[in-house]
Amino acid sequence: MTFVGHRNGGIIASLIIGLGGVFLQFSMITIGIMMISTFIFSLYPDCDIKSKSSKLVYLLSVPFVYYLFVNQYLFLLGMCLGILITPQISKHRGFTHSLFSMVIISWCWSFIISSLKICDVQSIFSIDSFRIDNIMIASSIGYLTHLILDWRIKLI
Ligand SMILES: [Zn+2]
Repeated sequence: MTFVGHRNGGIIASLIIGLGGVFLQFSMITIGIMMISTFIFSLYPDCDIKSKSSKLVYLLSVPFVYYLFVNQYLFLLGMCLGILITPQISKHRGFTHSLFSMVIISWCWSFIISSLKICDVQSIFSIDSFRIDNIMIASSIGYLTHLILDWRIKLI
């Protein structure tokens, strides 16, 4: 699947997440962060090659990384850099294109967002420190959109 296909898939998925957020009466900031998470993670797996997706994801991450650095959230910064570096050390359509990576990466992302306390993070299910919440669901759905679109193309 090309960048345009993934981008359109990401836009559609984030609109669905946005509607879900309105339906569940989340605040506007929460809905915004959920939608951005869905969109970014619909492109994220293709950061494992030089692609338009990787340019866009890395460009959008710059102000966020800067924000974490300036505010001295060093642990979260490390986690965020870990998310950003992972595709660089995995081969194309390798680790980043797996369901395992989807769970780990979106869990890390929801950990970062919930630690910043910038929006409502509502736990849906949890075992000890592993928690599935609205941010993780939003990111996973974006991520899954990417995997499904790639998989469909592979079948053809
Ligand atoms: Zn891909």
